[in-house]
Amino acid sequence: MSSKAYDHAVVGAGSAGCVVARRLVERGNDVILLEAGAPDENHEERINTPVRFPELFKSEADWEYYTEPQPEMNDRRLYHPRGKTLGGSSSLNAMIYNRGVPWDYDNWASMGNDGWSHDEMLDAFKRSEDFVGSGDEEFHGTGGPLTVDDLSDPHPASEAFVDAAAECGIERNADINGRRQTGAGLYHVTQRDGKRCSSAAAFIKPVLDRAGLTVETRAHVTGIRFDDATRAEGVDYRRDGETHEVDVSEEVVLSAGAYDTPQLLMCSGVGPAEHLRDHDIDVVADRPGVGRNLQDHLFSFVVYDRTDDEPPAPTSNIGEGAGYTYVDDDEPAPDLQFHFCPTYYMNHGFDNPDGLGFSIGATQVRPESRGRVELASADPTDDPVVDPRYLSAEPDLEVLREGVKRAREIARADALDPYRGAEVWPGEDVETDAEIEEHVRETAHTVYHPVGTCRMGNDESAVVDDRLRVHGVDGVRVADTSVMPTIPSGNTNAPAIAVGERAASLLEA
Ligand SMILES: Cc1cc2nc3c(=O)[nH]c(=O)nc-3n(C[C@H](O)[C@H](O)[C@H](O)COP(=O)(O)OP(=O)(O)OC[C@H]3O[C@@H](n4cnc5c(N)ncnc54)[C@H](O)[C@@H]3O)c2cc1C
Repeated sequence: MSSKAYDHAVVGAGSAGCVVARRLVERGNDVILLEAGAPDENHEERINTPVRFPELFKSEADWEYYTEPQPEMNDRRLYHPRGKTLGGSSSLNAMIYNRGVPWDYDNWASMGNDGWSHDEMLDAFKRSEDFVGSGDEEFHGTGGPLTVDDLSDPHPASEAFVDAAAECGIERNADINGRRQTGAGLYHVTQRDGKRCSSAAAFIKPVLDRAGLTVETRAHVTGIRFDDATRAEGVDYRRDGETHEVDVSEEVVLSAGAYDTPQLLMCSGVGPAEHLRDHDIDVVADRPGVGRNLQDHLFSFVVYDRTDDEPPAPTSNIGEGAGYTYVDDDEPAPDLQFHFCPTYYMNHGFDNPDGLGFSIGATQVRPESRGRVELASADPTDDPVVDPRYLSAEPDLEVLREGVKRAREIARADALDPYRGAEVWPGEDVETDAEIEEHVRETAHTVYHPVGTCRMGNDESAVVDDRLRVHGVDGVRVADTSVMPTIPSGNTNAPAIAVGERAASLLEA
């Protein structure tokens, strides 16, 4: 056992953790960033070549989680990739840069979370950003560490998708991160010169030589150490079978993601007391909300063979085309999102047929279903129990069913004539609402956006306050997607990075 002292320990070098560590080091702090995964150089080719990201699935760079059987999804156990390397899920993701809508953040603020309104989040988004694409300047930042660009070589079928959406009444929108989200266009991507710009590449690699920054990879954090009361003294981590102690004089920041952060808190004694006692864990703070409030987006795809012979470019992020529209006109912002892929995308790509295809994924962006993360055992290296309870709220299936219908309408529009071959999913014989719902239950899967398991708020079941401090203990904050009270109406990487920015500001204030 070895032991060393720092101002701060940041647990998890993912989308948010890299930002927190970078900003703290910039301000002269002594910081250790602890990452369970291997260095990203170990997977360099697949990480840096955007079109190859699905090859990272079920590799050493993936935690490879599985849900509990989902009763509303034909009892399937759904595969959930999560990044396990420097950069975390930002090293494994589809590189879409998308922020959600102002309503998302104003809603967080209206729940009593000061500092989290859209205006304040917009500052955080812009602070990170080095926008080199085309869009509305008022809504983008330049000179920040994270390069955000247009796709350098989008597939012509993705352009055709935008025209097809317009034929179906979803008008062209040149910047879905700009003034309004509604419409169709091409996504902005976190790429620099056509290569992935992960959170590690953006925030950590450029400062690796700075005094004050220590980065440890293959360092699996096993728990927070508290003093005799409730103050965090540091963390323990395991590497190559050996246990190391890290002492902190200031704070521990948990950025291990929406599954591993609540697991770490529970293994350290912070969580629902009864559940902790069931696993013989000493209770430091009874916080019933730890692991609750899990929210995620589902993808339900329509898939077609392609009749042309152009493969996607190496710089393709696969999810090239964007669309936002309303199923329910009374919603505060579009409730339906599309991803157009100039490829087959069936079961995360594992069931793709040979040859070329295109896919349109429909997603309900503000699902009502709520799930949970629990402990399978007190061993922090065991996988947590992940139970999203998908489609347990009735409206969620309805929106997805309508989404599949609209995706099919777009796929069958004239603009896609030059590309469209036979319908593979759901298949021509699938017509009635009941048949489409069965397609959703049988084939839908995660959009990889779990959030909410350490919810920010001031009530009994909230886990962190609006300064991201864990209720009931001292010296521990959470900075990752788990603090989000509700899921943003889009992809979650940019929001996770913005949470990292906010956390760093709060740590200094
Ligand atoms: C396949 C895939 C595709 C996606 N596509 C997109 C997209 O195109 N656009 C988008 O906006 N979002 C996308 N997302 C979602 C987005 O990437 C995530 O929401 C975001 O990265 C989450 O950030 P985070 O900081 O909360 O967690 P993560 O980035 O997952 O970081 C958590 C880090 O903590 C580490 N860790 C966990 N436990 C421990 C421990 N005990 N000790 C030490 N380290 C630990 C992990 O290894 C990881 O590095 C995708 C995600 C995936 C998986």
